[in-house]
Amino acid sequence: MNFSEIRESVDIDGAKSIIDSILNVSYRATVIVDRQTFEIVYMNKLAKDMFGSKVDCLCYETFCTREVPCQGCNLVSLESGSVVASGYSEILDKQATWKYSKINWFDGRDVVMATLIEVDDEQNPIAKEISAKIAKSVSVDRSEMDELTNIPGYARFYVNAEKAIHANTDKEYAIVVFDIDRFKNINDLYGMTKGDDILKHVGEVLMDIFGYNENYARMHSDMFAFYIEYERKLDIIRTIEKIRKKIGSKENETEVNTSYGIYLVQDRSVPINLMCDRAMVASRTTKGDVMRFCAFYDEQYREDMIRISEIEHDMVKALEEGQFQMYLQPKFKLDTEVLCGAEALARWLHPSKGIIPPSDFIPLFEKNGFILKLDEYMWEEACKTIRNWMDAGKEPIPISVNVSRYHIKHNNLENVLVDMVKKYDIDPKLLHLEITESLFLDEPAKLNRVMEKLRGFGFKLEVDDFGSGFSSLNLIRNISVDTIKIDKEFLDNEIASEKGKIVVNHTIDMAKELKLQVIAEGVETKAHVDFLKKSKCDIAQGYYFAKPMPLSEFDKLSS
Ligand code: C2E
Ligand code: CA
Ligand code: CA
Repeated sequence: MNFSEIRESVDIDGAKSIIDSILNVSYRATVIVDRQTFEIVYMNKLAKDMFGSKVDCLCYETFCTREVPCQGCNLVSLESGSVVASGYSEILDKQATWKYSKINWFDGRDVVMATLIEVDDEQNPIAKEISAKIAKSVSVDRSEMDELTNIPGYARFYVNAEKAIHANTDKEYAIVVFDIDRFKNINDLYGMTKGDDILKHVGEVLMDIFGYNENYARMHSDMFAFYIEYERKLDIIRTIEKIRKKIGSKENETEVNTSYGIYLVQDRSVPINLMCDRAMVASRTTKGDVMRFCAFYDEQYREDMIRISEIEHDMVKALEEGQFQMYLQPKFKLDTEVLCGAEALARWLHPSKGIIPPSDFIPLFEKNGFILKLDEYMWEEACKTIRNWMDAGKEPIPISVNVSRYHIKHNNLENVLVDMVKKYDIDPKLLHLEITESLFLDEPAKLNRVMEKLRGFGFKLEVDDFGSGFSSLNLIRNISVDTIKIDKEFLDNEIASEKGKIVVNHTIDMAKELKLQVIAEGVETKAHVDFLKKSKCDIAQGYYFAKPMPLSEFDKLSS
């Protein structure tokens, strides 16, 4: 509630007692002065303790021992918002820092609230006493105020939130953490000063919305937090909407969007910093989604994060200890049903968790970069296997390995692969490289350069998951590949209808005209096989024939 709202909703005595109750819990001496008459209209308890009760006295006489108002006084010059100023203080006989904020007094008067932030003195006994009083009453010190925005910093926020949440166990609280979208870009594009201006603006908005409650803080960088009492979740959303709108409406400014994470306090024994972390986790889930600017914390996030951190903790050791195993899924020629290849798929044989499927770790490894290591390991396993087949006098069959998008950015891809086939002395055409379709949309020119080089070395290239995205034969017409692997979903969706069957038939026809081999993956049923045979698809891979299996089993199949 701000002062004008107080004015509208309560009578004068009521308003005074509300103001008392707010400002007397403040850690700082606060004096309120009428800007027209220079009368002191209010002092909180701490101010009265320090300066004596001076209500109704003139401020320039009291604080500056002058007979007329001071020239350039902040009381007069302040146009709006707040300003922090340091200067010599007559009454204290020392340098002091005050914060002046322009507000509307509950009776309609235009007033300035002056809050004593700091007194710089070692010698002067009165000032020293005042400093000591401030230090004592302010169990949190100046360092707990954020210098740039002049609102509390995180340490102070923790204390305030802790107090409120523990003092009012009958009330529901939420912790909200938010940050500015792409703040780094704003700094890079418009400079730090502009970035600082925006941060100060956010501080002002919070002060405007919550007044002097100190239920908010700048946590660090562009991250802010507040705690709020609520009855319905909608109350929280409404407040967020208000803040977001105010932050975004800074005139003539770059667009400033903010994203919010909300933690509903249930277990009050959870430390406040952890509550903030959880709210932050929730806010991260809104990133990259323009339709969402706030999210509630869900216990599932924590479980996911624990799972992720466990995987990240274990992965390096797992690779060193050989916990990753190459499974092979056979590929069959459709006309003769003869085994003609295999896809290498990773499995994690975890000592305590059992077999972990790739869907639980590949997406994470693609994010944290560990996929480079795992893929290289898988390529090496494939090369080793081909070498062993040759050494055992078997006719080697090609193995397809997956190449994740990370490798295309990794300039060494060709060298790593060439070195590997050299090391095991195998023909590169026995190593097929599966590159997922979506990559063709990313950076086609770069991808094409890499692919042409790889094909030049003799590797075979396959477009994985063909039909799952937006690419078409038209797109890959210009890219040098040998094979398309039709995605299971595409197959399922299309062959369900007569029209769809025509689409798949023509896709296969066109691929063949472009001299591309066609593999269908996810072939599960006899109906799939019949349709694919009729469509003259070359190769099939799927549970209908065989599931991915350890090498020892695969060797039995191919012998
Ligand atoms: P993918 O490359 O599209 O591999 C085919 C996936 O389909 C495999 O799942 C395979 O087990 C599954 N599959 C095969 N036949 C059928 C079928 O008839 N029906 C159904 N429903 N599924 C079938 P998997 O092994 O769980 O691998 C999932 C994905 O993880 C792979 O999709 C691939 O994108 C990724 N992945 C697996 N191993 C590696 C690896 O070593 N490196 C990289 N970069 N990615 C890998
Ligand atoms: Ca694949
Ligand atoms: Ca695939």
